[in-house]
Amino acid sequence: MNHKAVAVIGAGPAGLFAAKTLADNGMKVFLFNRDIRPGGLAEYGIYPEKYRLKTGLRKQFMGFLLHENILYFGNVDVGIDRDYSLSDLQEMGFSAILVTTGAQQIKHLGLEGENLPRVYHAWEIVSNYNDLPPYSQQNYPIGKRVVIVGVGNVMADIARYCINKGGVDEILAVARRGPAEIKFHETEFVHIAQNLDRTDFEAEIKRVTPLMLKMGQDPNETWAFVEKACENCDEIASSTNLRLRFLKSPSRFIGNEKDGLQRVEFVENTLIKTNHTTRAEATSLKTIFEADTVILAVGSSVDARVGLPVNKYEFSVSSFPEYPQEGLSYEVMDPVTEKNIPGIFVAGWSRLASYGLVGISGRDGTRGAQAALAYLQDHGKSVACEKIEDHVRGAEKPVIDKTMVEELLSIEAEIAIQRGLPDYKYSTNKEMLSALGIR
Ligand SMILES: Cc1cc2nc3c(=O)[nH]c(=O)nc-3n(C[C@H](O)[C@H](O)[C@H](O)COP(=O)(O)OP(=O)(O)OC[C@H]3O[C@@H](n4cnc5c(N)ncnc54)[C@H](O)[C@@H]3O)c2cc1C
Repeated sequence: MNHKAVAVIGAGPAGLFAAKTLADNGMKVFLFNRDIRPGGLAEYGIYPEKYRLKTGLRKQFMGFLLHENILYFGNVDVGIDRDYSLSDLQEMGFSAILVTTGAQQIKHLGLEGENLPRVYHAWEIVSNYNDLPPYSQQNYPIGKRVVIVGVGNVMADIARYCINKGGVDEILAVARRGPAEIKFHETEFVHIAQNLDRTDFEAEIKRVTPLMLKMGQDPNETWAFVEKACENCDEIASSTNLRLRFLKSPSRFIGNEKDGLQRVEFVENTLIKTNHTTRAEATSLKTIFEADTVILAVGSSVDARVGLPVNKYEFSVSSFPEYPQEGLSYEVMDPVTEKNIPGIFVAGWSRLASYGLVGISGRDGTRGAQAALAYLQDHGKSVACEKIEDHVRGAEKPVIDKTMVEELLSIEAEIAIQRGLPDYKYSTNKEMLSALGIR
């Protein structure tokens, strides 16, 4: 039967909510996903021990996939020189394409020494401990003195991992701005607050208090936040000493190829108020910390190889959308011609890199789908969806459909029960394919 068909690229929270919205509105949705399993960072980013959250989301997303209008194609990579390019998809007859591939590329700082051994980007560590192939198969040795750059929720997750894995003597989490600008939530800080060196924290707050007062900020609010987290914190699992440092940006990683990282140099910052934001401004002062491992938790970037123009860390979004949703633009603009690219939409972390939790990304996916639906009222034609489906299924490499995902999840759940584990997930594509009887 002929339908208007929409390709959604990326089955993270944004893509899954988008697919559901499009399917509920009568579109035939082809959901392409690079990973075998759906879920994106809900599967491969969220901290492994958040079992209830992860299992709940898995169940919810599987429910979406079972919608009769949604076809799932896992293990399919979309982009330049990949399984399909965006133009290939347009040629197949899709009336609209919604890109929800997240922001899954490392954000390089371009600093001296960034390629030294034991200088990592958070993406590598998170993907490794969450069993995302191929990171799951690589070794990321972590030493005894760890510096984490950035103080958002990802820093809290990585500090939690370092504390729980054992063998890490000290963690220094370093913020570009001050205590009033910290980005982590109390719900995440409670998992590491038990290891906070309170004497050191007091001294650090005392050091930055004059600047905070000058900026009209109240150091007592920071204390209240920390006290509350400490009251509700986890039990001590290791003796790792956790310290925080404010008003510093990394400027150089010092070491050598043979011994790896040895020190991190930081530039000292001050704060400047501009309109509604408080900005960090570099001074001429520098500080050096001894460290054998640095993990950069400074957000990530979209993948330009998907084939859309990129503006800084996200795809180039039009400032003049024809189909705005709640005042937001989901349309892609060619920055050279300054014209919108018709029929191509972006949502989730692809639209705003590293912004928001699952709920926010899901809502963004829904709004992206609504923008595409508004466009589809006047554009696109019905196509023979079975033909497209047969073509995709006929690919040389194995393509995973929703029945296989269901089967995979149930095999893994069975293994978890047999081994008495709260959760179990295969860590390689080979294992997943072989469990499904695919060679
Ligand atoms: C370390 C970390 C911890 C987090 N913890 C929490 C938490 O505890 N609670 C919470 O609510 N939120 C958490 N989040 C945020 C949450 O994960 C994000 O809000 C959400 O996953 C973003 O959704 P998305 O769909 O935009 O992108 P993603 O989740 O990144 O999904 C992108 C999808 O696109 C696919 N893809 C990528 N490239 C291609 C391609 N070329 N072709 C085809 N498919 C492709 C990927 O396989 C993936 O499935 C965390 C994020 C991180 C990084």
